[in-house]
Amino acid sequence: AKQNGRNQYAFYFDDLKKDSKRIIILEAELRKAIQNKDFFIYYQPKIGLAKQDIIGVEALVRWNNVKLGFVSPAEFIPIAEDTGLIIPLSEVILEKVCLDILESRSQGKIHILPVSINIASVHFQQDDFIERINSILMQYNCSPHLLELELTERTVMKDSDDIVNKLVKLKAMGFKISIDDFGTGYSSLSYLNRFPLNYLKIDKSFIQQITNLQDKQAIVETIILMAHRLHIKVVAEGVETIGQVKLLQQMGCDIIQGYYYSKPLAAKELMDFIELWEIYRQE
Ligand code: C2E
Ligand code: CA
Ligand code: CA
Ligand code: CA
Repeated sequence: AKQNGRNQYAFYFDDLKKDSKRIIILEAELRKAIQNKDFFIYYQPKIGLAKQDIIGVEALVRWNNVKLGFVSPAEFIPIAEDTGLIIPLSEVILEKVCLDILESRSQGKIHILPVSINIASVHFQQDDFIERINSILMQYNCSPHLLELELTERTVMKDSDDIVNKLVKLKAMGFKISIDDFGTGYSSLSYLNRFPLNYLKIDKSFIQQITNLQDKQAIVETIILMAHRLHIKVVAEGVETIGQVKLLQQMGCDIIQGYYYSKPLAAKELMDFIELWEIYRQE
């Protein structure tokens, strides 16, 4: 048993070494990639249930590294957050989103949809967050009205006057504000009326279980009722099946995002999707 224990220890230790080695490589590659602006932005449509229209898209970063291959943002965003690289990375992402907005505007035929971008906590907490975002937007002649900021429940949960003030200022500038991953932070619902919110996004961990778990269904239903009383619209993320769409529609959910309608798409693919969607809706 003793020897077994040692083997087990060696096994975990090897694993740990492998993990920390990968993190070191990831951090170094990430630094280079930021310098070279070596990322792509994919866009996932959000569908309004009432009129079956595309009400916006979420920008999601993609990274294909020569050494590591495709690395998921679920892996590299947390590393970027821990190392402070998230700030220059987010600025590269915002630049790319602005460029895509400019490009789609120059093509003329396509409506410009509001694009939502994910804002990390450490980034939002910077004192000059608003100034720096603003200066990038001005550089690309992009209006805040075209952008929505997705802040996680954890970011705003601290409920300080500082956070509220920042949000009020951003809202006044024209940005739309969403709370992302809602339901995962175990926070009380009552704090929500302090914030100037447009949307609540219910986390996909709830959505993916609503058709078979009664308690998840009850939670989602309660979130929707409460949000509507505060005049906040509700987005369900991670919607994959027609069953989920139907149930969410019955519950009064406003907006659907998920593989059921579309995976995140490259900018060009998004243009095709929008065109097809318009044709399909006119039939
Ligand atoms: P998130 O903000 O909650 O984004 C939703 C994630 O769910 C995305 O994963 C999206 O591709 C995925 N998704 C969308 N529909 C479905 C579905 O129907 N089923 C399932 N299973 N998944 C679906 P992705 O792109 O891998 O991003 C993971 C997380 O990484 C994001 O979660 C966000 O926290 C972070 N992230 C991604 N892009 C950015 C970015 O540009 N900036 C920042 N700060 N974080 C980002
Ligand atoms: Ca998001
Ligand atoms: Ca989420
Ligand atoms: Ca998330």
